[in-house]
Amino acid sequence: MKIAQCWDDGVTTDVRLVSLLRRHGACATFNLNAGLHARERQFGWRHRDVEVWRLGRDELREVYDGFSIANHSLTHPHLDGLPIDAARREISDGRTQLQALFDLPVPGFVYPFGAFDDAVAQAVREAGHVYARTTRSAAAGVETRDPMAAEPSCHFLAPDFWQRLERARPGGAFWFWGHSYELVDEAMWTAFEASLARLCAEPGVQWCNPADFYYGEDP
Ligand SMILES: [Zn+2]
Repeated sequence: MKIAQCWDDGVTTDVRLVSLLRRHGACATFNLNAGLHARERQFGWRHRDVEVWRLGRDELREVYDGFSIANHSLTHPHLDGLPIDAARREISDGRTQLQALFDLPVPGFVYPFGAFDDAVAQAVREAGHVYARTTRSAAAGVETRDPMAAEPSCHFLAPDFWQRLERARPGGAFWFWGHSYELVDEAMWTAFEASLARLCAEPGVQWCNPADFYYGEDP
């Protein structure tokens, strides 16, 4: 079973998440907005009464060392609400800046708020991405028919997470996503670590980059 996981928004709780992932030997992709990281950490918003802070620009390379990076647009707008030229800049500048910052290929895209239309999807493809992740869940496994409307298996807190893993088993591909700031208390961190350990114990588990589901899919 190939398993991918990805985490959005470049927040300070990713520091705890990556240490946990490293401890368990799990790969992950982090979906970042290159234009939203000031030099120092900055307050972003509140999630369930907990402050969410973005990582500082100067720590990004160190925090995500050894993990893969995907583009989440330059500044996280609703891309389908922008003039298409502005959307194109958000998409292509985000990718260019991440590639320069991390000195890594950035093949993946994640729509901010899951929002897109045909023109946005085309712009994402033209900017050189091989997949663009939505917030929809595939009926089973990973939906690869339209790489610019990629459907992962589920959110990491989906109540039917383990049933979805079972449904993914025949296709051999499972992909979950989320935000580390959704882990708002110790009980949630403990539960997530237990889930991670259970996934790592899957027979034949192979952690992968979501891009692996999409390379070579074109006819
Ligand atoms: Zn986001």
